[in-house]
Amino acid sequence: MTKDEEIPDCVGAHEFYDKYETKEILGRGVSSVVRRCIDKRTSQEYAVKIIDITPSDKTTPEEIEEIREATVKEIDILKKVCGKDNIIQLKDYYVSNAFFFLVFDLMKKGELFDYLTEKVTLSEKETRKIMRALLEVVQFLHNQNIVHRDLKPENILLDDDMNIKLTDFGFAVQIEPSQNLKEVCGTPGYLAPEIIGCSMDPGHAGYQTAVDIWSSGVIMYTLLAGSPPFWHRKQMLMLRMILAGSYDFSSPEWDDRSDTVKDLISRMLVVDPKQRFTAMDALNHSFFSQYVVHEVRQFSPYRRFKVICMTVLATMRIYCNYRRAKPVTKEVIKSDPYSIKPLRKLIDACAFKIYGHWVKKGQTQNRAALFENTPKAILLSIAAEADEPIHQIW
Ligand code: ADP
Ligand code: MG
Repeated sequence: MTKDEEIPDCVGAHEFYDKYETKEILGRGVSSVVRRCIDKRTSQEYAVKIIDITPSDKTTPEEIEEIREATVKEIDILKKVCGKDNIIQLKDYYVSNAFFFLVFDLMKKGELFDYLTEKVTLSEKETRKIMRALLEVVQFLHNQNIVHRDLKPENILLDDDMNIKLTDFGFAVQIEPSQNLKEVCGTPGYLAPEIIGCSMDPGHAGYQTAVDIWSSGVIMYTLLAGSPPFWHRKQMLMLRMILAGSYDFSSPEWDDRSDTVKDLISRMLVVDPKQRFTAMDALNHSFFSQYVVHEVRQFSPYRRFKVICMTVLATMRIYCNYRRAKPVTKEVIKSDPYSIKPLRKLIDACAFKIYGHWVKKGQTQNRAALFENTPKAILLSIAAEADEPIHQIW
């Protein structure tokens, strides 16, 4: 960080452009564009988030002022979380009358969202690594009473070693321990029921940090199933599903998932925020204690006996499953190819390759539409989106 003092009124874009050369666009937001940039002196690559605060026909002076205030808040939070693993590092920032320039470490592997689109679904092992890092970050934020409010795979970036880096603190706020928030913000598919409650009832008690755990549960479900837990072409119906906590583990992808992982998700996607797991509860769940390798292992006859028993049981289970398995005939492949796991994966991967560019980010999710597996369903979802403008508050 180069500036610890108050943000000056006008440091000027010149300073930024003197130091950095901007390159191609990496991502876009409502009022920002993120570009790769290069430090002219060191040739080091970075990502710069350029936030436009120039008055235009599309934005009112009030909206410009809101963006300016929100960006000052974003910088303030980014400074507070500086140095934490798995959170994007703000390296530098510049402010002019027309733009903010926020310089970050460059994440060449891009978003978790795109990685998931490429892989379709992730294994429990990979999900465990990502979710442990995410929940540790969430726990760190919540310990400081910081609520992120926009957790989603688009805001989780991947570094060269495929470690996650949480980004986009545009909606993040630091609250007093007993303070309740009422502002409606976030992304529809990831909104906690109590945030939707605030938009419907002016007398609602408000919400706190637990909203991030709900979004983390939605992310975890999506990583394992490929499609989100709450989705409907009509946004109103999707919000109703969220309010009722109505989701299930019925897609074929869940057949192979452990009860442990389903149990953890179901404790994060709890409608009542008081009953919902905290980040610490989630990290203490048995899903995260699996595959912990103990460094020093003494010989123990009991452990040896247990290993032998488990090996025998596993062998018997494999043998029984082998006996029970139906032969994959041409008829089975012709009548229901989707019921055969390797074929299902292949079909999903092909669908994502062809229709991947339609998997929309941000506002409404139609990743789920790809899982409906019929071109008609995909066309319907696109038509429904065109008919149904997204409400201003989102
Ligand atoms: P917004 O608030 O407009 O959503 P974000 O901070 O989320 O802005 O950035 C928008 C997109 O830009 C991200 O989803 C990502 O694709 C890309 N991006 C942002 N920061 C970086 C970075 N440090 N490295 C690589 N890509 C980035
Ligand atoms: Mg974003």
